[in-house]
Amino acid sequence: MKQILTILFFAVSCQQCSSQTSSNSKTKKMETTDKKSPVYSSTDTSKVNLTDEEWKKMLPQDVYNIARMKGTERPWTSKYENFYDKGTYYCAACGNPLFKSDTKFDAGCGWPSFYEPISKGSIIYTPDNTLGMNRTETQCGRCKAHLGHVFNDGPPPTGLRFCINGVVLDFAKAKEAEKNYKEKKEEKPEQ
Ligand SMILES: [Zn+2]
Repeated sequence: MKQILTILFFAVSCQQCSSQTSSNSKTKKMETTDKKSPVYSSTDTSKVNLTDEEWKKMLPQDVYNIARMKGTERPWTSKYENFYDKGTYYCAACGNPLFKSDTKFDAGCGWPSFYEPISKGSIIYTPDNTLGMNRTETQCGRCKAHLGHVFNDGPPPTGLRFCINGVVLDFAKAKEAEKNYKEKKEEKPEQ
């Protein structure tokens, strides 16, 4: 009997040991990524598959409500609604690049609007028949965060209007692009 108990004890403590090691390595991996959320990256294109519970722990409440619960921010409340700085817009949940500022336009609808995504894979399109309407939902191509909807009443060249909740957007100014542009401009008079 004593022998069996001893074997059992070793078996249990070994299991604990191995599970601890795996959770430790997981934590370490998380620490090395961006401070915003463990999966936040503007360069990592690997898909992010997390549960709502996991997202809830790492996202600010307002981002979570829209990105995971498919909420909608009140119109005219986004800081990006009347904002035309040059740069790139990213998914606030995972950092995936979504839109370039030069495809942003004033749709007058109360939400940041774009006529074209940054690349084909940056956005996922899903039919949305809720609220008695036939709409097309737009989701982040990397983490499937709900972004907003796309409509067919946008300007050329695409004729599309990506109506996006500003809460789920992050913006980064095109510092390098601006700098290069200025340098080139300054070089020209000398020639
Ligand atoms: Zn995302």
